[in-house]
Amino acid sequence: MLKGAGGMLEVIISLCWWAMILLNSASSAAQAKPAADLVIVNAKVWTGDRAHPSAQAVAVLGERLVAVGSNSDIQAWRGPGTRVIDAGGRLMVPGFDDAHVHFVNGGQQLEAVQLNNATSAEELKRRVAEQVKKTPRGEWITGGDWDETKWSPPSLPTKEVIDSITPNNPTFLSRYDGHMGLANSAALRLAGITPSTPDPPGGQIVHDEQGNPTGALKDAAMDAMYKVIPPLSHEQRVRVIKAALAHAGSLGVTSVQEMVSSYPDIGVYAELAERGELTTRIYAAPLISDGAEDQAKIGLRHAFGSTYLRVGAVKAFADGSLGSRTAYFFEPFSDQPGNRGLLAEGMHPIEKMRDRMMTADAAHIQLCTHAIGDAAISTILDLYEEVVKAHGEADRRMRIEHAQHMGEKDFDRFAQLKVIASMQPYHAIDDGRWAEPRIGHDRASRTYAFRTFLKHGVRLAFGTDWDVAPLNPMLGIYAAVTRATLDGKNPDGWFPEQKLTVTEAMEAYTMGSAYAEFQEKEKGSLAAGKLADLVILSDDIFSIEPVKIRDVKVWKTIVGGRVVFDRDQSGAVH
Ligand SMILES: [Zn+2]
Repeated sequence: MLKGAGGMLEVIISLCWWAMILLNSASSAAQAKPAADLVIVNAKVWTGDRAHPSAQAVAVLGERLVAVGSNSDIQAWRGPGTRVIDAGGRLMVPGFDDAHVHFVNGGQQLEAVQLNNATSAEELKRRVAEQVKKTPRGEWITGGDWDETKWSPPSLPTKEVIDSITPNNPTFLSRYDGHMGLANSAALRLAGITPSTPDPPGGQIVHDEQGNPTGALKDAAMDAMYKVIPPLSHEQRVRVIKAALAHAGSLGVTSVQEMVSSYPDIGVYAELAERGELTTRIYAAPLISDGAEDQAKIGLRHAFGSTYLRVGAVKAFADGSLGSRTAYFFEPFSDQPGNRGLLAEGMHPIEKMRDRMMTADAAHIQLCTHAIGDAAISTILDLYEEVVKAHGEADRRMRIEHAQHMGEKDFDRFAQLKVIASMQPYHAIDDGRWAEPRIGHDRASRTYAFRTFLKHGVRLAFGTDWDVAPLNPMLGIYAAVTRATLDGKNPDGWFPEQKLTVTEAMEAYTMGSAYAEFQEKEKGSLAAGKLADLVILSDDIFSIEPVKIRDVKVWKTIVGGRVVFDRDQSGAVH
């Protein structure tokens, strides 16, 4: 394996660290070991290290673990200045590493008005009015995820509902499925939408009986709005990222791998890292269309950076989604003959994507490609095979994001090419409600095929796709272990043969994700020398009934030896 500059830096840092320990112990002759900064005792530790799976206590010096063992082993690391946390017998596990998030979108969603569980237009109005109070004059109000099917009567909202409360804030509220939005009059004016504006191809401007736009815009008609909504300002970006960091801390998510990072996002991460305010470790993958050449130009390879912020990966798209019938399949949708979905824009022509992948791989940049339908996955495996043929064997850890619907013939190839399946178990219990009529029983049996992947020797990396799904890892573990769909119709599991054990699901969410970002030597399990990223949970997920895993809470989250969330103090601690 070629070592990136980041790797070199790590070696130097760890040499300095050992030198520091040696100096420390030499200067205090009476003491066999330097005192730890933090010890955690009386825990039930699941280390994630198969050679030493359990322990009672850990010692932390600086940002790293120096010992993992029994309470008495760790006693030797206690000094007068050592902070001691008594875990009270609770379960302690390695910090969760979410292999696929949209962190900034997630932060925006946290800050935005929450309309999804509103049960009437009046309730929507009341909540938007609250949001207006928190929003500076002139600033846009967006998001919301309203769902009129939950209202009685279920009728589409109109701009009249929100106009009187949003005179000074252009407003565009999205429907939960992302296929419709509600604009107020100020937003329509800014977008230049008048009664005579024609529908764009692939979109619809909804009109009332008098022919006036109601404010509801469908699909491509929303583009006019996206053109006038300004990008986040620097201050807004810092604000939403801080909200996302606090949220991640409260859920035990100590690392995230961000797909489709923008350069301004990375700029803010770097700024926060420099100030010591990045409390979740970030691996940022910009879009391949810019990211491959830009990073190659300056020689950034996979996983380049510090323990807190790394770059050197790119995200590509092969197709769309099952929900919107744009996932690309070999055969048509079972309930829509003639439609087998679509390859994404960047795949036309396919040579363009091949060139981009070759550019990235030649520069040792990691490839992460969104592929959902069986034909999309197969096409990406073809391209990955060509990359290997062209540049020879290497430790490149190419990934397929979602890997949702597998063709039977492709499991072996997936394994041979050592491609990582970066999957989001929560999507399985969500899509599982309606996927089968859409693609039929046979194809549905290879949907989120966790067990089949493991049987074929494919490495799994788990995550959530937040903000598309909740960031809470407990929901992901629950989903992988039960496969109980959200509608309650499959209590014993949707395609139960694909269920995982709690241990397998935990491995995919810790070591599996760490491996997927070239960091398995730094994190993903608890062992001396590794980063002290730890989570103490309210309950023992290995012994409680699987159905209760979704209710388990985080008691404390520790990143690099720092307590970043403490439920006893009900909030974030820095
Ligand atoms: Zn995603």
